[in-house]
Amino acid sequence: MEVLELQNKTHDETRQGEAFAPFTNEANSFKKHFYIESYGCAMNFSDSEIVAAILNQQGFGATTNFEQADLIFLNTCSVREKAEQTVRKRLTEFRKVKESKPQMLVGVLGCMAERLKAKLLEEEKLVDIVVGPDAYRSLPNLIEEAESGQKAVNVLLSREETYADISPIRLNSNGVTAFISITRGCNNMCTFCVVPFTRGRERSRNANSIVNEAKDLFEKGYREVTLLGQNVDSYYWVDETKNEVVTFANLLEQVALVSPLLRVRFSTSHPKDITDEVLYTIAKYENICKYIHLPIQSGNTRILQLMNRTYTREWYLAKVDRIKTILPDCGISADIIAGFCTETEEEHKETISAMEYSKYDYSYMFYYSERPGTLAERRYADDIPEDVKKRRLAEIVETQNKLSYQSNLQDIGKIFKVLIEGESKKSGNDWKGRNSRNKVIVFAKGNYNLQPGDYVNVQVTECTQGTLLGNIVD
Ligand code: SF4
Repeated sequence: MEVLELQNKTHDETRQGEAFAPFTNEANSFKKHFYIESYGCAMNFSDSEIVAAILNQQGFGATTNFEQADLIFLNTCSVREKAEQTVRKRLTEFRKVKESKPQMLVGVLGCMAERLKAKLLEEEKLVDIVVGPDAYRSLPNLIEEAESGQKAVNVLLSREETYADISPIRLNSNGVTAFISITRGCNNMCTFCVVPFTRGRERSRNANSIVNEAKDLFEKGYREVTLLGQNVDSYYWVDETKNEVVTFANLLEQVALVSPLLRVRFSTSHPKDITDEVLYTIAKYENICKYIHLPIQSGNTRILQLMNRTYTREWYLAKVDRIKTILPDCGISADIIAGFCTETEEEHKETISAMEYSKYDYSYMFYYSERPGTLAERRYADDIPEDVKKRRLAEIVETQNKLSYQSNLQDIGKIFKVLIEGESKKSGNDWKGRNSRNKVIVFAKGNYNLQPGDYVNVQVTECTQGTLLGNIVD
């Protein structure tokens, strides 16, 4: 579900607990301050920007130092047991500060809040506020309740809420790339997944508000937007004023037409909604990036049926062929689960061979973690021993590492149009950016008067498994 500089890492390792604050010096003008840390998928990071806007409205400024905060929020993930353990451990680290600052409030947001609800208050005495992903508008009242000494909870899921009228405050932004959430919730009931229970039914946001947000970002100097949703490509909005339907392909086109200088990406897709209409729209606009995140989860049809993924191995591989036919240079990445209930060694090998067939640029890979309340937990025994799960995951990671390196080796000598995102972490003499295929490229600044947000042509001279290296070419 997340897509930045991530290569071949298991889900939970990515994007752990980043503390957020808008890069403005405005924060000092606020009397009260909030500190927010986000975990899990890009939707959570995007939601934290909505929460920041709501708190800003209430007179809270942001701080990246939780000891200075009056309000601490953890925006949490429930996709795996480990993600929740990480949050519980993090909460213990706030105990000392809270003891020294009793009026400080601690709140838990996101999927763990929705999954556990008021039970979280019993289990974690430190916590004052518990708010689910659809209830952030009620934060001002909940904070007031908690400031009066009560515990405050709102975990109501909504069929309408999209926060379309709230302008997110960009947190920790590089000023070049930004998320725009376009759908919320998910109607697919994959048996291993908690998301339908923690984020509710699918709903699509008003298309005009999305296009306006993209225009606003472009005017502010952003040069790339990622359209976000749990199941982004099932976007479907009815414009009742015109009695018109806006499909995902239509929306992609509308955002691409904001400016040819605005790159458009999207995440996360479900293979069943990657239609020819979507692929031809991507082909039609140079600024719609040639990269699709296409979770497979397993390469075996029997396991896919147990997962309720709604497609077979053959259907999925035919979709990969279709993508490569219509978009020959398109990069594909995947989500993969190792060791799902009753998976045999042969079926595991089919996942490996599906990866080799699809030639993924990179993948998010993890072993099956049974989640309370999911269909799989209710229907199947979690019968694959942990050491077998770990060994299978290691084989999948090894396969992906080879595929990523092979894909990068094939790029040596090629010239790519790169959007500069900022300086390389390793050296201030180098820029870092990505090509349309979502590959990270690092190259020397040289004597060019360039800055983040500029496009530049770079010729690849060498590579690692995770990064392309190159030089600017005129
Ligand atoms: S598509 Fe499946 S895996 Fe993805 S969020 Fe929905 S239920 Fe979960």
